[in-house]
Order: sequence, then C-alpha cells, then structure tokens
Amino acid sequence: MADRMLKFTKVQRNMPRKREVASRHRDFDEIYEEFAAQKAAEQASRCSQCGVPFCQVHCPVHNNIPDWLLLTAEGRLEEAYEVSQATNNFPEICGRICPQDRLCEGNCVIEQAGHGTVTIGSIEKYISDTAWERGWVRPVTPTQERPQTVGIVGAGPAGLAAAEQLRAKGYQVTLYDRQDRPGGLLIYGIPGFKLEKQVVERRTRLIADAGVRFELKFEVGRDATLEELRRQHDALLLATGVYKARELMLPGAGLDSVFPAMTYLVASNRKGLGDAVPEFDDGTLNAAGKDVVVIGGGDTAMDCVRTAVRQGARSVRCLYRRDRNNMPGSRREVANAEEEGVDFVWLAAPEALDGEGTVAEVRALQMRLGVADATGRQSPEVIEGSSFRLKADMVIKALGFDPEDLPSLLQAPDLAITRWGTLKVAHPGLMTNVPGVFAAGDIVRGASLVVWAIRDGRDAAESIHHYLQEIAAAQTRSAVAAE
Ligand SMILES: Cc1cc2nc3c(=O)[nH]c(=O)nc-3n(C[C@H](O)[C@H](O)[C@H](O)COP(=O)(O)OP(=O)(O)OC[C@H]3O[C@@H](n4cnc5c(N)ncnc54)[C@H](O)[C@@H]3O)c2cc1C
Ligand code: SF4
Repeated sequence: MADRMLKFTKVQRNMPRKREVASRHRDFDEIYEEFAAQKAAEQASRCSQCGVPFCQVHCPVHNNIPDWLLLTAEGRLEEAYEVSQATNNFPEICGRICPQDRLCEGNCVIEQAGHGTVTIGSIEKYISDTAWERGWVRPVTPTQERPQTVGIVGAGPAGLAAAEQLRAKGYQVTLYDRQDRPGGLLIYGIPGFKLEKQVVERRTRLIADAGVRFELKFEVGRDATLEELRRQHDALLLATGVYKARELMLPGAGLDSVFPAMTYLVASNRKGLGDAVPEFDDGTLNAAGKDVVVIGGGDTAMDCVRTAVRQGARSVRCLYRRDRNNMPGSRREVANAEEEGVDFVWLAAPEALDGEGTVAEVRALQMRLGVADATGRQSPEVIEGSSFRLKADMVIKALGFDPEDLPSLLQAPDLAITRWGTLKVAHPGLMTNVPGVFAAGDIVRGASLVVWAIRDGRDAAESIHHYLQEIAAAQTRSAVAAE
C-alpha cells in the first residue's frame, strides 16, 4: 500500500493532467502504467542512436542498448525485452543495481555532451518488469536433451546465469549452495531497498522451472569434496564468491557490538525475508536508537549506512580515510546516503575502539592525502595530534572481502590460486588447472559486480559447452575406430 501511495504521489507531482483523470475514478494502476510507459518512451527517445554506442561497449554484457531504446520509444516493449534478455539473464536486476554512472550511463554520448544521460538502467528495469507483469518471461526450453551433467557450486549471479545458459543447451544441471536460499549476495548481501527479494526469487523459480536442480544447504568441502563432485558430473563450475571479511587490526576491535558488514546485512535481509532472527529481535543486530559508525568507503559500507538509517539509528556516521573523490563506492550511493542523513567523516581513520566490554567510542585520526603511489592513487597520511572521538554504540566493519582459502575449504590442495587467493583460470575459457573444472564470478575477479558475474557465468557456460562437445566428439571417434 505504501509503495502504491509513493507511486501515486509521484504521479500527482509530475502529471497534473493525470490527477484530473484519476479524480474521474480511472483505475490507479492503469494510470500509473500509462505514465510509466510514457516516461520510458520519452527517455528512450532521447537516445541519439549515435552510431558509436559507448554505452554498449562499457556494459559488461554488451547489451544492445540502442536497439532496445529504439523499440521502447516506439512502444514495442515485447521486442525490446527480447533484445534485452538475449544478452543478460537478469536485466531487471542489473537495471536496479548496476552502478550505471560508471558503466553504460557514464559513457552515454548525450551525458558527455552535458545534456544528462539517457536513464538506461531505469528503462531496462521498466522493460523487464513489464515483461514479467505481462507473462513474456518464460523458462528456457532446450531444443534437445543432452545426457551430460554439469555441477555448479554457488547459486549467486555467476552460477545462476551459467545454469540457465547450460540448461538452454539441454545439459542436466545441478546447483549446489551452502545457503538455504539461492541467490548468493543478491539475496543475503544487497539490501531489499535496493533489490527487492521477490525480484530475485521469481528468477530462481524460473531457473528451477527450466529443470535446473537445486541442492541447498550443501557445502562443498563439508558434504562432498571437490574430487567427489567432479566424479559425479561431466564438468564442474566453481562460482563461490568471496567471503573473507578484511579485519580491523586495532585495539578494541574485539569489543561487543563491533560487527562485520555481512553479519549485519545478512541479519537485516533475513528479517526482511520473514526468517526468525533472534539476534535482531533482541536488539544486538538492530541499529534502532543507536549511534552507528560504519568504517569503510565501498558499496558495502553504503549499504550498511543506508540500512542503519532505515532501522531508525539515532545517528549514522561513515568513516573513510580518503576524500569523497577517492571513494571506491558509487557516487550515486554516496549522494543517496547523504540525502538520507548519513554523516560522512572524510579523511579519517580509526585508531582504536574504546569501551567497557561493549564499544562506546571510536577514536580516530585526521588524515591528509600524500604522494601518489605506483597506481597513481594518493596514499593517506596521518596528521599528527589530530585524534578525535566519535560516540558509537554499534560499529560496522566494511573494509572489503578477500577469497576464502578454497583449496583447503574444498579439500582440493592441487587447485591453483593466484597470489590474491582467487582461482587461477585460463583466459579465454575460464578452466582451472583441474581438467573439467571451471570458475566464474568474484572467486576469479575478486569482489566485483553482479553484471560481471553474469558475464562470467555466460562465458563459462559457453566454454563448458565446447569442452563437453569435444569430449563427446572424441568418444564418438574412438568408438568408430574400435568398430
Ligand atoms: C553488501 C554488498 C552489496 C553489493 N551491492 C552491489 C550492487 O549494488 N551492485 C553490484 O553490481 N554488485 C554489488 N555487490 C557485488 C555483487 O553482489 C557480487 O559481485 C556478486 O554477487 C558476485 O557473484 P558471484 O556469483 O560470483 O558470487 P556470490 O553472489 O557471492 O555467490 C556465491 C555463492 O556461492 C555459495 N558458496 C560459497 N562457497 C560454497 C561452498 N563451499 N559450497 C556451496 N556453496 C558455496 C555462497 O553461499 C553463495 O550463494 C555487492 C556486494 C556486497 C557484499
Ligand atoms: S546491464 Fe548494467 S551496464 Fe549493462 S545496460 Fe544494464 S544497467 Fe547498464
């Protein structure tokens, strides 16, 4: 209801003529739909069809943006959806959460000419949401069934995209995940106010309806070793993501009420999904009424501060050791957080956390940006004697993620990793050093983006298909030779 009211408020504000019509008792949804369609068409028609589609080049899945914008401008939404979903398994998800300012929209020539970008992400979301509403989104149906099976470890966006692509080719696919729900960070990391959970759930249902099997609460390394799983399938894909939180090495870091970002976000997401979360209900992981300090400057930090605001925190501060221009998080997210009342403490690094058993204050130092390092990035330096204190009864550490120790975790000591702990794969092809075992997503790239995970999942599916075809062809050749 609140959602409908918000939409209605927007219609009222922007479309006085529509308000008149509404007052004549036309159905609200009909009016809203017409308004949204008109807005989408208006925006889409701003695309100059420039012939140098930098937006498409800078979209990791190379969406054919100019074509679906043209179709939207002409009101041919079903065709627009067909074009959009041909390159992207989850367009409505990307439309919601891609950092478009760094990808497609940031490279729109209209934006670069100073006239404001075509709002590509919103149009992508609109086209796909309409497709869902009108029943145009259907499970993939393979034209032929193949006997080979593929096991995929990790049901995040990389694993899900690969599963759908492989199923479309007729393979028998099983997705294994240690969580109780599929979706990876789409379900337990990214907050619901950015990505509604039912948007993720309807996609995972669609993939199940296409015939992909889900084995949930199945942890590879605990319930089966990598080798055991490899023996059960003709090929394997590892899409396990990166989950080792970077630690705060400070006095007081072990105090109560100091939490890793994922502990905090998972509790909030589970609560939103209707799960019993005792640590939220007893107030431990609920920011309501608290002075919250989030340490870090990436998108995860932005998700934490914005979640704390929504939970009713008394104050929310974000401590970051560089300045606004050097923040890794999306500019748009910072602007959203500021608008919502988050206080950014730029050029500040924590020195210690103080408190009697439970954190009560963050002691911090003022920083300045010094000389640029080899990467061209200025290193923060401490300003002597600049120590200051911030009141905090909840501290959230959002310092980024590293890969877990996969060779130990999966009981696969021979699995090759890079010096960053990510899986070593061949390019192109994404095969690890273990024959028939491929890898995709964050576990190859390090912490990245959903749209890159989708791209990797699609690429890995294509490589697995070639690998299995080659094996099948070799088997046929040796059978013929044996006759
Ligand atoms: C808080 C947060 C917010 C983010 N916000 C955005 C955003 O707004 N936009 C954006 O583009 N990106 C965002 N990202 C990044 C994005 O979520 C990731 O890049 C993306 O989810 C990576 O996909 P993946 O499939 O590689 O891994 P994941 O999504 O991490 O999925 C990996 C899956 O593997 C499972 N798994 C791991 N080990 C095992 C095992 N041994 N056995 C069985 N299963 C296992 C996990 O349970 C998980 O379900 C965010 C990340 C975080 C942490
Ligand atoms: S997938 Fe992401 S980068 Fe590509 S067009 Fe959509 S919003 Fe832009």
